[in-house]
Amino acid sequence: MSLVMKFGGTSVGSAEMMRRTADLIEKFKAEWGDVVVVASAMGTKPVKVTDILLNGSKSARQGDKAAYESAAVQLRETHDKAIDELIESTEERAALKAEIEGFITRFLDICGAIWALQEISPRTADVIGGMGEQMSVRVIAAYLRQRGMAAQALDATDLIVTDDEFQSATPIIELTEQKTKAGLEPLLADNVIPVVTGFIAATVDGVTTTLGRSGSDYSASILGRALGSKEVWIWTDVDGVMTTDPRIVDNAQTIPVLTYSEVSELAYYGAKVLHPRTMRPLVESHVPLRIKNTFNPDHDGTVIVTRAEDNISPQGVKAVTAIKGLHMVTVEGRGMLGVPGVAARTFQAVAQSKASVLMITQSSSEQSICFVIPEDTAVDVVSHLEDAFAEELKNRDIERIGQVDQMAIVTAVGSRMQGVPGIAGKMFTALGDAEVNIIAIAQGSSECSISVGIRESDVAAAVQAVHELAVEASR
Ligand code: ASP
Ligand code: MG
Repeated sequence: MSLVMKFGGTSVGSAEMMRRTADLIEKFKAEWGDVVVVASAMGTKPVKVTDILLNGSKSARQGDKAAYESAAVQLRETHDKAIDELIESTEERAALKAEIEGFITRFLDICGAIWALQEISPRTADVIGGMGEQMSVRVIAAYLRQRGMAAQALDATDLIVTDDEFQSATPIIELTEQKTKAGLEPLLADNVIPVVTGFIAATVDGVTTTLGRSGSDYSASILGRALGSKEVWIWTDVDGVMTTDPRIVDNAQTIPVLTYSEVSELAYYGAKVLHPRTMRPLVESHVPLRIKNTFNPDHDGTVIVTRAEDNISPQGVKAVTAIKGLHMVTVEGRGMLGVPGVAARTFQAVAQSKASVLMITQSSSEQSICFVIPEDTAVDVVSHLEDAFAEELKNRDIERIGQVDQMAIVTAVGSRMQGVPGIAGKMFTALGDAEVNIIAIAQGSSECSISVGIRESDVAAAVQAVHELAVEASR
C-alpha cells in the first residue's frame, strides 16, 4: 500500500530545503516502497510563488504592465536560482529552465490578455495561480532523478476531476479515483515516484481549477483516498498538533492521536491545524493522516484517525484552544418568553450581516439569547438586530440588545470526554481557582468540546488552568 507525502512551499522553497525534502523522500521510499509526492509552489511568505502569480494577474487587470512584467522576472529568478543550485548537468539545467520559461511566457501572454480586456475571471485566475505548482514539481522531479531516484512530474489536472467551482473546486470522487489509479498505479508498479502538483485539478472537460488557497493538503488527501493509501503525511515545521499554544503554556505537548471530530473542533475554535476539508476525503476511506516535522523526521507526529476504535487516547481533555477578538451580544426581555420565532429571527438578522457565530446560549427562562461573534462584525450585527426587532424594542418586549466587547472563547477538546462525568465540573473548578470569571458556557451535544466565554484579559490564566487537565489526562 502506498504512502502519499505532501511538501509545502517552505519544504521546496530553497535549494537547502529541497535537499532535505529529497532526503526524506529517499528515506521513506526505501521504507514504504510505493511513495507519491505532492508539492506546493515554491516559497514561504512573503515571497510565495502563488502570490507572485496572482498579484501579477491583479496588476494586469489594473492596467499595470510594469508590475506583472516584474512579477515574471521574480518568477524566473526564483526558479532559476534553485535550478542553478541543484542541477549539475548543463543539459538538464537548460532543459528545465526552458520548461519554466514556457510557463512564464504563458503567464505573460495571459496577463497581456487580462491587461487588454481589464478583466479577470475566476477561471483565468486558476490557470495562472496553478502555474507555481506546475513549475515546482518539474524542479523537484529533476532533482530527485539527479539523486538517482526514478521520479516523474505530473499535473493533477490529469488526475483530480472536480466541479467547475473555480477557486474552490470540489472533487468528483469516482472520476478522480479512475483517473488517479490509471495515472499513478502504472508508475508505482514501475517503481517510479510520481511528483504531483498540489492545489490544482481540472473539470470533466479538462479546464484547470484550484482547490482553494492552501489547497495542497487537500490534494494529498484526495489522492490518498483515490489510491486507498495506507497513510497520508503532511510535512510541516512542527512535531504535530499541540495540546495548546506553546506561547501561552510552556509544557504544551504534541498530541499523538486525534480524531476527525476533534480536529474539526480544534480548527473551529482557533487552533492552526488542518482545514477540515482536508480530512473529508479520508473520513469514509479511513486513511489516516499524519502531520510530520521536516526538521524532526523520526518523531511520529500527530496522526488523525477516523475510526473511534483507532482513538487510543486516554479519557479526558486533550487540547485547549482560545480565540480572542470576540464580542458577545445578548437579546433580552421578558416579552420573549414563550414567543416562538425569536431565536430564528435573531439568527436571521445575524445571517444578513454574514457574521459567523462561534457560540450560542439561551437561558432556560427564555428571557435571553446570547451569542458570540468576531469583534469586527459587531456593529453590523447589532444594527441588523435593531432593525429586525424595532417593534419589540419599541414595545419593550425586548428590553435591550446587550453587548460585551473584548471577549474570548476558551475551549477544551477531547472526544473521550464523552461519558466521563465531572469533566465540566473540573474545568469550572480549575477556572474558578484561577480567578477567571466565566461569562457564558456552551457544550456541543457531541460532547467533544466544552467552551467558555470569558474576558480577553483572562485568556492566559484560563488556558493555563484548563491545560493542566489535559496534562493530567495524558498521564
Ligand atoms: N500554493 C497554493 C497556495 O499558496 C497551495 C498551497 O500552498 O497549499 O495557496
Ligand atoms: Mg499549507
